[in-house]
Amino acid sequence: MQGLQLRCREHGLRLTPQRMEIYRTLIEMPTHPTAEEVYKQVRLRFRSISFDTVNRTLLTLAQVGAAFVVEGTGQPRRYDAGLEDHQHFRCLNCGGIVDFHHEPFDHIEVPAELEGVKILRKTVYFEGLCAVCAPAVNHIAKRSD
Ligand SMILES: [Zn+2]
Ligand SMILES: [Zn+2]
Repeated sequence: MQGLQLRCREHGLRLTPQRMEIYRTLIEMPTHPTAEEVYKQVRLRFRSISFDTVNRTLLTLAQVGAAFVVEGTGQPRRYDAGLEDHQHFRCLNCGGIVDFHHEPFDHIEVPAELEGVKILRKTVYFEGLCAVCAPAVNHIAKRSD
């Protein structure tokens, strides 16, 4: 929660109970949930909250760097509280997102051409077929030959 407090103060955002709850819910969900999935969880404790509020709050959290949209996922966006340095592998077949942490990837240099931009996060992203899907998809591909 300290991360959120700090980010909010930096950006002049009020730390409302709703924002806190949405952030806490995101941290507690290791699945890189969509806004819809976060909404379903938050609604258990905040009955009156709207999907729109959850959706907007997640985007706000991403803009202040307290959360991240997982790269490569398109629509619907998948979120990550991004508390610790880590990288993602995404399976194109089942949509599963696997966290991994390869330390050298934390130290990627920002190229000179990007001078003047504000980097919130640098990441390495892999996509392909997960260990469960790879054999099954191979099998299907062979059969259709
Ligand atoms: Zn898979
Ligand atoms: Zn992650």
